[in-house]
Amino acid sequence: MAEETIFSKIIRKEIPSDILYQDELVTAFRDISPQAPTHILIIPNVLIPTVNEVEPEHELALGRLFSVARKLAAEAGIDESGYRLIMNCNGDSGQEVYHIHMHLLGGRNLGPLLA
Ligand code: AMP
Repeated sequence: MAEETIFSKIIRKEIPSDILYQDELVTAFRDISPQAPTHILIIPNVLIPTVNEVEPEHELALGRLFSVARKLAAEAGIDESGYRLIMNCNGDSGQEVYHIHMHLLGGRNLGPLLA
């Protein structure tokens, strides 16, 4: 059984966060250290530590990450200007929180991915 992270507490609203969307499968909230004018994290409510632990039973929740990203990007008014979706996996990627999360970044020119 994987160890819970601070994100489980955010999902259960045991610690404060700026939740923008929540349903039975996913939760979206503002990143505490935004790297762009819009920086939102979208996470499955079930604890999946990294992409390496993704199973077929997770496909519904992981698909929901994209539909919520689309909705929140439109609400933030960055759907036409553009945005970036990032999911890190393990040490070399810089993953810090071991509860899978999609970063939604936008609101400025993000430059080349591998700068
Ligand atoms: P990653 O490096 O992909 O694991 O990203 C983890 C992200 O979680 C970072 O962008 C952090 O700023 C963000 N983060 C960590 N703790 C919190 C928190 N309590 N509320 C919101 N965002 C957080």
